Amino acid sequence: MSIFEQAQTLIPGGVNSPVRAFDAVGQDPLFIKSAQGAYLIDTHNRQFIDYVGGFGPMILGHANPLVCDAISKASHHGLSYGTCHPLEVKMAQLIQSIMPSIEMLRMVNSGTEAAMTAVRLARASTKKNKIIKFTGCYHGHCDALLVDAGSGAATLGIPSSPGIPQATTADTLTVEYNDIDRLSAAFLEYPDDIAAVFIEPICGNMGFVLPNPEFLNQLQALCQKHQSLLVFDEVMTGFRVALGGAQSLYDITPDITILGKIIGGGLPVGAIGGKKSILSQLAPSGPVYQAGTLSGNPITLASGYATLSICKQEAHTLYPQLNDYAKVLTSNIKSLAKNYHIPIQTAFKGGMFGLFFTDTPVTNYTQAKGANNALFKQFFQTMLAQGIYLPPSPFEACFISKAHTQDELNHTLNAIEQAFSCLKSI
Ligand code: PLP
Repeated sequence: MSIFEQAQTLIPGGVNSPVRAFDAVGQDPLFIKSAQGAYLIDTHNRQFIDYVGGFGPMILGHANPLVCDAISKASHHGLSYGTCHPLEVKMAQLIQSIMPSIEMLRMVNSGTEAAMTAVRLARASTKKNKIIKFTGCYHGHCDALLVDAGSGAATLGIPSSPGIPQATTADTLTVEYNDIDRLSAAFLEYPDDIAAVFIEPICGNMGFVLPNPEFLNQLQALCQKHQSLLVFDEVMTGFRVALGGAQSLYDITPDITILGKIIGGGLPVGAIGGKKSILSQLAPSGPVYQAGTLSGNPITLASGYATLSICKQEAHTLYPQLNDYAKVLTSNIKSLAKNYHIPIQTAFKGGMFGLFFTDTPVTNYTQAKGANNALFKQFFQTMLAQGIYLPPSPFEACFISKAHTQDELNHTLNAIEQAFSCLKSI
């Protein structure tokens, strides 16, 4: 019995998070035994250049020695205290110094938990009920946000999963990404009852889709007009598209920011931060209940603090390097695709990039779903066979780390040319 077959008998679908099952790309998942720098090594000793980066956290590459040392040292001082420790304060200070919109911060254990807390806090502090989210944006698997109602001006939420009572999502409205008219219509329909608008300010969960900058400005203006909170989900984009996240790139100050991934340096983490007047409503300073046995865990914080400190110290070289690499990669993908008559759209920002196999620009989920996903599947398989690990779904973004060098870039571009030449002949 293969290890995946064994896994399937014990773990639902054989995986502890669905996208890892490789369903979208028609293969069995990789089982990794070790990871170093820009590389993953699987249980068959095959080596892959990694463009998944643990789905975001591994911005410094795998097993960064400074991060591993910090974790190891911290572990000798105890694994969990159940009470306060100084690194919690240092971590909040570090995050605040990078993201000034975060006047106060609560650490949690996942992005999902941070989003769930943001929903509760937004409703409590505005005394309003409805939440607007954008189709194709993912904010973790908490009930109120697991909604993809498809088209319609602002359709009342229909749960994306069985087990979520209709009532739980009845107050969740969905609007197509980048569609200011539909967003305005939603506010017109419920002018006094929108507690918050949740958005990935750059979206990495329908593939990689950039916002229209005017759209973000108009979104903020609508929130201000209606006294609704603007919630930026920067779980993926925080410290990734730029040191200060998407909010620094677009110069927008959200009321609440949700964080995760990089601030744990690869260990389980999340955080919710924002205006003091809002965050101070969390228990015990306020009435909005939220708690966590392992929140602010000393090992997680040692890992996250080391990672984020390096990102901050090296920001002037790290982010231009990530951006340049993504730019070279995407522009070469475009020109190679042209040579082989393959329809393609690419986009990048900082250490994130993405591609869609289509002739038409992709600015929302409907367009993303319209791309040629059969072509993506062939592309993924051909790249994997050449030692390049891309996200195993057309609806995920690709990630670059500090550990990727010109060698990996060259190898990747050669593999892409080879893959495109095969796609052409299929
Ligand atoms: N928000 C965004 C933008 C994400 O990409 C994710 C996970 O990929 C989440 C929230 C949920 O985070 P977690 O998987 O840590 O619960």
